[in-house]
Amino acid sequence: MAKINKNYLNLGNNYLFREIEEKVQKFNIKNPNKKLINLGIGDVTLPICDQILKSAVESIKEMGKTETFKGYGPNLGYEFLREKIKENYFKSGINININEIFVSDGAKCDISNILDIFSKENTCLIPDPVYPVYSDTNIMIGNEIIYMDANEENNFLPKPNSKTADLIYICSPNNPTGAVYTKEMLQEWVDFANLNKSIIFFDAAYESFISCENLPHSIFEIPGSKTCAIEFKSFSKSAGFTGIRCGYTVVPKDLIIENVSLNKLWNRRHSTKFNGVSYITQKMAEAIFTEEGQIQCQKNINYYKENAKIIANSLKSVEMKFFGGYHAPYVWFKCPKNMYSWEFFDYLLKNLNIIGTPGSGFGKNGEKYMRFSSFGRREYVLEASEKIKNL
Ligand SMILES: *Cc1c(COP(=O)(O)O)cnc(C)c1O
Repeated sequence: MAKINKNYLNLGNNYLFREIEEKVQKFNIKNPNKKLINLGIGDVTLPICDQILKSAVESIKEMGKTETFKGYGPNLGYEFLREKIKENYFKSGINININEIFVSDGAKCDISNILDIFSKENTCLIPDPVYPVYSDTNIMIGNEIIYMDANEENNFLPKPNSKTADLIYICSPNNPTGAVYTKEMLQEWVDFANLNKSIIFFDAAYESFISCENLPHSIFEIPGSKTCAIEFKSFSKSAGFTGIRCGYTVVPKDLIIENVSLNKLWNRRHSTKFNGVSYITQKMAEAIFTEEGQIQCQKNINYYKENAKIIANSLKSVEMKFFGGYHAPYVWFKCPKNMYSWEFFDYLLKNLNIIGTPGSGFGKNGEKYMRFSSFGRREYVLEASEKIKNL
């Protein structure tokens, strides 16, 4: 008799976005003439920039000629892309070997799949509130989870405390709170991990939104990190690749657990269970690193960052305390009048015709908070910010 993985029965139902959709639908039926502004968008909206498109077209043409046709690619990703990634790290003074870089179809898959090479006996330290993928993927395989509180007292940046854990999840800049760790704070995590022989999973999906030179873009800026950290990067938010699908994971050769190289294990896993990202996609990703590609992608990032600033300033003007907004596409704030997240969601929908994302959907510490996203169009963001001033 076939048996299921019963851990899946322990997963919470992923109500958040479905419930938002249902509430919005109901509102639209009741108020067909009211226009809603969506500040709940968790996806990029600006199209792929020209430099990347050009590369896509050229590589498609290569596929149509015998001389340049490509079949299966190298397991770790094409060297032309991994070289560019390596060079990009080098610009920030970080030395990464190209065999430490694994190109993939995005950070979400890698963050989930990385658990394959670890024992089920590990306990995982996960911040609350958080990107739900961290907790759900651990529940799916039955790992023990310890939550660490991210709240106003610690500016949504929890520090290591006596709770030892084997696998530690850090997302900076953070989704949903927009909070970002300083080098000093990350150093504390790296020292803690090295001391306890733990591994840090560092999710740097929003690294390109950092505005301040002194804030770390990568965990590998921190001394000692190569013996305790794996970094996940994605072109999704930095180059609009949420639909194209490409990212990469860095597993340093110095990561040795129980005398085994994690780089070797991940290489084996990646080569066996994954057949690579398409040549076309990797050529598109390569174009991100050209001078023109960098300029064009940065322009889109700046557009979102300006949106975030507009939202943040409108909250400031009504003296509402908020987090994020400057180094992340998210603004995170406490609901007014001590309202619960869903209560305030309804209030915003009905009175200001704005859609937000209830903080409670990201964990218990998200209750009574709301997330606004800056991925929308400027005209709507401006309209929303005027409305927010009436809060
Ligand atoms: C969007 C996002 C990612 C990126 O995932 P992809 O699979 O690369 O699209 C990773 N982590 C967080 C926290 C995100 O919000």
